Amino acid sequence: MSKPIQFGKVTVGGDAPIVVQSMTKTDTRDVRSTINQIKELEDCGCELVRVAVPDREAAQAIPAIKRGVSTPIIADIHFDYRLALMALEAGADGLRLNPGNISQPERVTKIVQAAKERGVPIRIGVNAGSLPKPKNPKLGIAEQMVEAALEQIKLLESLDFYLIKVSLKAFDVPTTIDAYQSIAQKIPYPLHIGVTEAGTPRTGIIRSVVGISTLLYQGIGDTIRVSLTAHPREEVIAGYEILKSLNLRQHGPILVSCPSCGRTEVDIIKLAEAVEKELLKITKPLKVAVMGCVVNGPGEARDADIGIACGKGKAVLFKKGEKLRTIQEKDFMVALMAEVERF
Ligand code: SF4
Repeated sequence: MSKPIQFGKVTVGGDAPIVVQSMTKTDTRDVRSTINQIKELEDCGCELVRVAVPDREAAQAIPAIKRGVSTPIIADIHFDYRLALMALEAGADGLRLNPGNISQPERVTKIVQAAKERGVPIRIGVNAGSLPKPKNPKLGIAEQMVEAALEQIKLLESLDFYLIKVSLKAFDVPTTIDAYQSIAQKIPYPLHIGVTEAGTPRTGIIRSVVGISTLLYQGIGDTIRVSLTAHPREEVIAGYEILKSLNLRQHGPILVSCPSCGRTEVDIIKLAEAVEKELLKITKPLKVAVMGCVVNGPGEARDADIGIACGKGKAVLFKKGEKLRTIQEKDFMVALMAEVERF
């Protein structure tokens, strides 16, 4: 088990639940927009939020952002160690540093001393696209990523600093998996896992699921971020779906919907999409089924809490596999959601 660390009120590592996090896509200097986006993320359950800190003004915006939200804020720093110091001064709950672009030990030392004074953890965020020059050029990318992280960890430990979290992200999924598997055996620190620059939701979710769930299933990973070229809300929703699929966390309802087939007599795709949208507003962990036929539907979704099995113009509403009543097509949504609310 990894060593737990604390980002404000949120524990990462140890036996804490796997934390879902995301990153804002607003200009951090625009405090209002950034707060609004973080609130949207909080509404869908996001537990940690990272903000980009590309300049002094962004670092100075942190206190105002923190006043407007309840999620701990992690400052993402590249290149300029002074921005890390400013972010700590401004009250950031965590820092993310990339050893590929703040590598001078004396600069890292200054950051570590300031983080230590405040008890703020640092993520060593290695990225395959911005690796420091390898000591051994014969190493593969995954090994170079591990080497870069270990080098930085050594420096932090030499300063008696152990509030460490590590990530080793690559676009290539097998490289990402190899890197995390390797480092998981070498260090006691929590791991932030994800596949970087994964792409738009259509492909990015698949790449992320393959990488993240392979690792989680092996017991590797303490917090996840699904990186998508989309609104960060999609990242959080995808993150929870991964955790729910592996029975690692419960978060809101699970939608079971049949793929539909030649037996279907209503537009199941449209109905399932509408139900999915409505379920986003529900926080109770329950299983809701949308099935295309009355013949196989209830049986196929036997373990659903509430379900609907559609026939021509009408449907059977069922609860735990047992028929409740028959409803007309115009009432599908209202009747289903009323049962969901009541459950
Ligand atoms: S539940 Fe019915 S409609 Fe849906 S896939 Fe199964 S047999 Fe086809």
